[in-house]
Amino acid sequence: MSITTITSTTTITTRQWLERLRALKLPRRVKVMNVCGGHERSIAMTGLRKALPPDIELVPGPGCPVCVCPEEAIYQAIQLALREKVTLVAFGDMLRVPVNVRKDDVRSLEQARAAGGDVRPIASPLEAVRIARKNPDRRVVFFAAGFETTTAPVAAMLAEGVPDNLSVLLAGRRTWPAVSMLLSADAPGFDALVAPGHVSTVMGPEEWAFVPERHGIPAAVAGFSADSLVAALYSVLRQFVEGRCFLDNCYPEVVRPGGNAGAQRHLAATMDVVDANWRGIGVIPASGFAIKPAFAAHDAARLYPSFDDTMRKRAGEMPPGCDCARVVLGRIYPDECRLYGRACTPRTPIGPCMVSDEGACRIWWASGVRAPREAMAAHAG
Ligand code: SF4
Repeated sequence: MSITTITSTTTITTRQWLERLRALKLPRRVKVMNVCGGHERSIAMTGLRKALPPDIELVPGPGCPVCVCPEEAIYQAIQLALREKVTLVAFGDMLRVPVNVRKDDVRSLEQARAAGGDVRPIASPLEAVRIARKNPDRRVVFFAAGFETTTAPVAAMLAEGVPDNLSVLLAGRRTWPAVSMLLSADAPGFDALVAPGHVSTVMGPEEWAFVPERHGIPAAVAGFSADSLVAALYSVLRQFVEGRCFLDNCYPEVVRPGGNAGAQRHLAATMDVVDANWRGIGVIPASGFAIKPAFAAHDAARLYPSFDDTMRKRAGEMPPGCDCARVVLGRIYPDECRLYGRACTPRTPIGPCMVSDEGACRIWWASGVRAPREAMAAHAG
């Protein structure tokens, strides 16, 4: 399998890429999906959508690991902090994601902390190790939700050895199986793919070759700068116009063939690939990581009882009215959710997409989109 690099970003400016892109004669309206919260942030913050011709749509897809983290896993993390009295450490944006419980119950890790739980935000696995070493008499659980880029450092941490009192509650997910699921559906909902740069750095760009090879869909790996993103857009649109498709690497300065062999070794040594549940979406084959039995002594899923309460209303589901699952799958844009900017804002988030920095709803809000689309249309009308 060959990966092409036709769009070297080193000598062409974003403006020049845009000029080339606008000169393309598209045969019809084209929808391009990105699957990375960082990409979506760059697109929203630079106003790239508005700079494109009207027949090009950019839709955010499954690019937010916090948004797809099973509700039951967050509930379990809350219960571990409150009932098992562990020190619960997690990446910061997981702390505010609400679970489905009665209004007077603890609804998030942040509320668990307010209720007396020892819940601490961390920025890296190294911090989890440091906290465990500093507190040898406490049991520390690292609630690790993330895609390959986050799970690989967790794997490295386990492979290199961690303190006896540290375990991991893992919700690691793989991105390409979610895209594969979309493409295998009757109506994938997009015509071309901008593939994630960070994930490709770790796992290698080759993971995305199935998109053109098996599905006949143009694909290009992009970085996070405007020029890399527009180069990738130009690449997939040009492929579309010319009626051919391949995988283009528009981030060659960082994304190398084969990816990061060391990170992949750590993943293979400590984790198994398993079918995994995506919140609001269901089980996607081979889309998750589970800690290997050899590391059971550090697997919180094995060390602690499950507190999952089968009587809990809407366990595992999105909150009532929240359209996060359809936002994550690129079926609708964030401002097409009726709660967007009304009941759901960053100050009063209802779904995870409005909590996480990688959630499309939160990103759109931060970029200045403040009202649901129907309200804007009515206002304009
Ligand atoms: S606006 Fe809020 S309720 Fe609607 S999809 Fe986004 S997070 Fe969910």
